[in-house]
Formats: sequence, C-alpha cells, structure tokens
Amino acid sequence: EQDPRAIAVDTYTATHLHNDTALNKALNHCISNSADNGLRDIAVFPAFGKFLMLQARLARASHILEVGLLGGYSTIWMAFANPEVKITTLEIDEHAAEVAKKNFEVAGVASRIEVLVGTALDILPTLEKEIQEGKREKYGLAFIDADKENNWSYFDYAAKMSAGTGSVIVVDNVVRAGAVADEEEAKKDERVAGTRKVIENAGRDGRVDATVVQTVGEKSYDGFLLAYVK
Ligand code: SAM
Repeated sequence: EQDPRAIAVDTYTATHLHNDTALNKALNHCISNSADNGLRDIAVFPAFGKFLMLQARLARASHILEVGLLGGYSTIWMAFANPEVKITTLEIDEHAAEVAKKNFEVAGVASRIEVLVGTALDILPTLEKEIQEGKREKYGLAFIDADKENNWSYFDYAAKMSAGTGSVIVVDNVVRAGAVADEEEAKKDERVAGTRKVIENAGRDGRVDATVVQTVGEKSYDGFLLAYVK
C-alpha cells in the first residue's frame, strides 16, 4: 500500500523543484512512448531521477555508466546534468533499446548516449578492457538498475572503471519492501540474495564508502545504495 501523504509530497515538491520545461517534455514523452510500446512501468520515480542528475553534477561526471536502460527515463534525467555529459547504457532487451533510442532523439540527447545491447556481464569486460587500453573514458557516475542477482558483479565493474576519488556508484531497489534485512527471504529470492551481497561486499570494500537510503512515495517502499569512491 502506498501512503497517500508520500505521494502528495512527491507531487508538491516536484511542482516546485522539477521545473525545467525541456526536460519535463522529454520525460513525459519518454513515459508515454515507452508505455505505448509495451515497456513495463518500472523506471525510477521522478525525485530519484533528479537525484541521479544532481549526483552527476556533484561528482562532476563527464562520463556515466548505466546498467539497465529500459525506455531511457533515468538516462534522460542524467543526460540533462549538463550539455556535455556522455552516457554508456547497457540493455539486454533489443526492443526496449530501440524505444529508448527514439526517446533520446525526441529529448535531443541521442548523440551523447551510447546504447549497448546484450547481457551486461558480457559487455562490461569489454568496456573494462577498452578503459585499460585508453580507448574509453572512466566513469564519474555509475547507476546500476538491472537484474538484481548480478548486483555485486556490476558494482565491482563500476568500481574498477570509476574515474577515481569522488566518483559515485548508485544501486537501485536494494530495500525490496524490507526483505533485504531478512536472511530467510534471501534463501527464497535470488534478487534479495544478490542485493544482500552487494551491501555486504561494499561494506568490506576498501575502494568505497557507502550507505543505503530507504525511500517512500510514488513507487512502493524501497531504497538505494549510494557509494562514494575513495
Ligand atoms: N534504469 C531504467 C529507468 O529507471 O528508466 C529502468 C531499468 S529496468 C528497472 C531494468 C532493465 O534492466 C530492464 O529493461 C531489463 O531488460 C534490463 N536487464 C535485465 N537483465 C539484464 C542484463 N543481464 N543485462 C542488461 N540488461 C538487463
């Protein structure tokens, strides 16, 4: 059950704080075109999109990595962090990737977004190799929002490919309506197990300092992990 007060707060605050007309137009088109093309309504909520955009600015990210594109809603938010930022985004679903590319064209950001279609775990080693060979820039911000079972592997790649001190890694949906704190749930649900793994490993990982923030509002009770690269 969603708390109507939390939804009212999202609406009220967005009315005052999310007032970039061009961005709102691009996001509204993205939502309607994605729905018209049968994509699931599982994009981040608006305040979280704006949070990602502000993280990109705070981290002064020139290059962003996204794992889990869908229709490109979160990608458009991050692309509006500044007019130069470049995004590499990974998606397993070819149809979703095509819809996203159209959404990027309408948003006017297509030239700055590299869409790579395939299994993220197949693509990430290539990106890492290209970075090592100096053929690709490191990432100041990484946003992980795909299959939760592989959260730790994605996080590990993001840390290896980060632009160094001050870079940020965000992992979405880590609270799972509270299931993350329940060891029994982890035995039954691989997504919960994958989420616990990224939290526990991040806590032991000397490369990062991290926290989990719980969220309420338009989407159900959930939360995200925010990691600072040391
Ligand atoms: N970040 C998007 C947004 O907020 O607008 C939402 C992403 S959606 C929650 C998760 C996406 O990850 C889906 O489109 C799904 O097809 C994709 N995905 C799932 N498993 C994947 C994998 N192994 N490799 C790449 N993408 C994957």
